[in-house]
Amino acid sequence: MTTTMDYRILLYYKFVNIPDPEQVTAEHLQYCKDLGVKGRILIASEGINGTLSGTVEQTDQYMKDMLANPLFENMVFKIDESEGHAFKKIFVRHKQELVTFRYDQPLDPNVIFGKRLSPVDFHEQLQQEDVIVIDGRNDYEYEIGHFRNAIRPDVESFREFPEWIQNNLSQYKDKKVLTYCTGGIRCEKLTGFLINEGFQDVNQLDGGIVTYSKDPEVQGRLFDGKCYVFDERISVPINRTDEDIIVAKCHHCGTTHDRYINCANPSCNLQHVCCEACEEEHEAFCSDECRDIIMNPEKHVNAV
Ligand SMILES: [Zn+2]
Ligand SMILES: [Zn+2]
Repeated sequence: MTTTMDYRILLYYKFVNIPDPEQVTAEHLQYCKDLGVKGRILIASEGINGTLSGTVEQTDQYMKDMLANPLFENMVFKIDESEGHAFKKIFVRHKQELVTFRYDQPLDPNVIFGKRLSPVDFHEQLQQEDVIVIDGRNDYEYEIGHFRNAIRPDVESFREFPEWIQNNLSQYKDKKVLTYCTGGIRCEKLTGFLINEGFQDVNQLDGGIVTYSKDPEVQGRLFDGKCYVFDERISVPINRTDEDIIVAKCHHCGTTHDRYINCANPSCNLQHVCCEACEEEHEAFCSDECRDIIMNPEKHVNAV
């Protein structure tokens, strides 16, 4: 069987001062619609963060046009091959911040940032003794896959990180700290915050897990499970060696499994790990309550 990989998924960000972000957002949306790419792009006065899908021709054109813009020259694109679009629509939104972070001091990743480690250096330092490895993502992303020995972040969203770190990790200020996230953007803020808080030796995985997976030398080593992604693929394999293992557990039966589905109750839509057998048995509902709401709607008419 042959599969055609005529599409691509791009992931990219750049922290750069964008003088008129609202105007740039409106123009970029129109540009993306004309080009035919789909995805989610955020534009703020501090920069751009996007992930999109399109044909090889469309994504080539997109990268060429972006790199020709002085604001976005040198921007790094992570490229995945795909059999089709990974998004249903195109969203280009203006936001106050690219990544929302509950912290009362401004953090400019072009001014204050942790040392950027290549995949090879990160892999080597992961194995040193006495290093603190912080997963810079949310708890549900950690659940489906993470670096071995990484600390599970007890946060449901990135904005909770400052408080969680202040309350739980402040005893490690003298240790070597390694951070990582999906594509690198969250670590840009996270490492600046750690340095601001007095952590002495702060390092980040440059380009994130996605880049680490593609490195021909490390090949995703020491990453267990899959990497959660914010498109229709939901998760992607990272460890390309035979050490690949599954770390997530089925929401219903607890067996190790690493596929995510959405709850069949549209008003719940909870994304949960579910094995094939349980998906059939529970008809893709996350709970008996959700099944009841859909199967016996008359009981719930006035329950809202
Ligand atoms: Zn199950
Ligand atoms: Zn549900």
